[in-house]
Amino acid sequence: SHMAELVAARMKRPQGWNRPANARRDGPHYDYLVVGAGFAGSVMAERLAADAGKKVLVIDRRPHIAGNAFDRLDDAGILIHQYGPHIFHTNSEDIFAYLSRFTSWRSYEHRVLASVDGMLVPMPINRTTINALYALDLTTEDEVDAFLASRAEPVEVVRTSADVVISKIGRDLYEKFFQGYTRKQWGMDPSELDKSVTARVPTRSNTDDRYFTDKFQVMPRNGFTAMFENMLSHPNIDIELGVDYRDVRERVSFDRLVFTGPVDEYFDYCYGRLPYRSLQFKHETVDTAQFQPVAVINYPEPSVPYTRVTEYKHLTGQRAERTSITYEFPSEEGDPYYPIPRAANQLLYKRYEALADAAEDVLFVGRLATYRYYNMDQVVGQALATYRKLGIGPVVEAAP
Ligand code: FAD
Ligand code: UDP
Repeated sequence: SHMAELVAARMKRPQGWNRPANARRDGPHYDYLVVGAGFAGSVMAERLAADAGKKVLVIDRRPHIAGNAFDRLDDAGILIHQYGPHIFHTNSEDIFAYLSRFTSWRSYEHRVLASVDGMLVPMPINRTTINALYALDLTTEDEVDAFLASRAEPVEVVRTSADVVISKIGRDLYEKFFQGYTRKQWGMDPSELDKSVTARVPTRSNTDDRYFTDKFQVMPRNGFTAMFENMLSHPNIDIELGVDYRDVRERVSFDRLVFTGPVDEYFDYCYGRLPYRSLQFKHETVDTAQFQPVAVINYPEPSVPYTRVTEYKHLTGQRAERTSITYEFPSEEGDPYYPIPRAANQLLYKRYEALADAAEDVLFVGRLATYRYYNMDQVVGQALATYRKLGIGPVVEAAP
């Protein structure tokens, strides 16, 4: 059964797992030390080990692999995402094919509702949303386009996350769906954030209520952690968990480094701290089979302290009598989760990037190390490209 598979997947542990932190004082020599066992670190480790035949040590300061994509069975036996909902989507055949070596998939198209004006309406805003909100009966895309055009406010240069929304759909929809949510999520007004942030979420004139329109929309059948276990279970890869790079670098012998943690941390914050946004997660199990109609409900209202509520069974397809949910409370303090896209931060990152470029035998890969608001597939793509640029793999790939 699906459950038995999940449990079995979690009992299988790659070699080197949880080795005591002092076991390597006279340990082996590694070609590469990879800091971070998330997507960036795991893809790099897998390629270096399996394609280039390098000896790799992967470490993470957390007690588990998979980085922010880590999922696990909770006390009720429900598969939850410890760091909030992770939905895989990509347009890239290559990235999908690469990950398919380590997992089979379950089709899943993500749908999100927003709680606005006492209703639950589709987000991204679509024709259904507009009809519900304004008690209209628009039936064609042209009618919706005309409605939005009548609301849109011209903005001379679209620079911020406020401009990009207001110039397309006007102030009322902006305030209802974007302003409150963004203020909570980022601790600042959309007018202070780069346009790329709210531009992630489109507005549609049709009735497509999917969150993403990518060609591939799938979830790893046995979860993300099981997929990472398969990526990392290679004889050339050792893993140490619950250890910080600071404590490992003196004790382990290695030639080159792949660093996937925060780039400013690597350089001891010499130019000051790069701002990252954090979240606090409140995980709960409730005594009902289904808690909400879709996997995620967004709460843009300022009166609600959390941004969204996720019910995992929608994502995983798991069946159980109870269900587990997560509330997300954005916060200044805590693990770095989101780089904060705005001009001043990008300038500061550029200074660190110059140091990173000059650091010999160190590769910086991933969302924290390159300070980019990347989705999972983009991090995989970045890691594969970084590996390819090394030019150390076999010249000819084995035919399938
Ligand atoms: P991480 O996963 O952060 O891995 C870095 C690892 O390095 C961490 O485990 C950390 O503990 C470790 N580390 C850092 N410094 C050190 C050190 N000094 N010593 C030892 N270890 C260290 N993407 C999607 O595509 N779809 C989604 O639906 C989605 N939802 C998301 C929801 C949330 C709440 C968040 C925060 C992110 C979401 N993402 C989503 C983005 C996704 O999480 C990232 O793209 C991806 O996990 C980044 O991988 P990474 O390896 O770069 O970083
Ligand atoms: N956003 C919003 N209201 C919503 C959904 C998103 O204002 O209902 C804005 C918000 O600023 C958010 C950004 O759009 O941070 C990107 O949304 P996405 O769902 O991509 O965020 P993520 O899943 O990365 O947290």
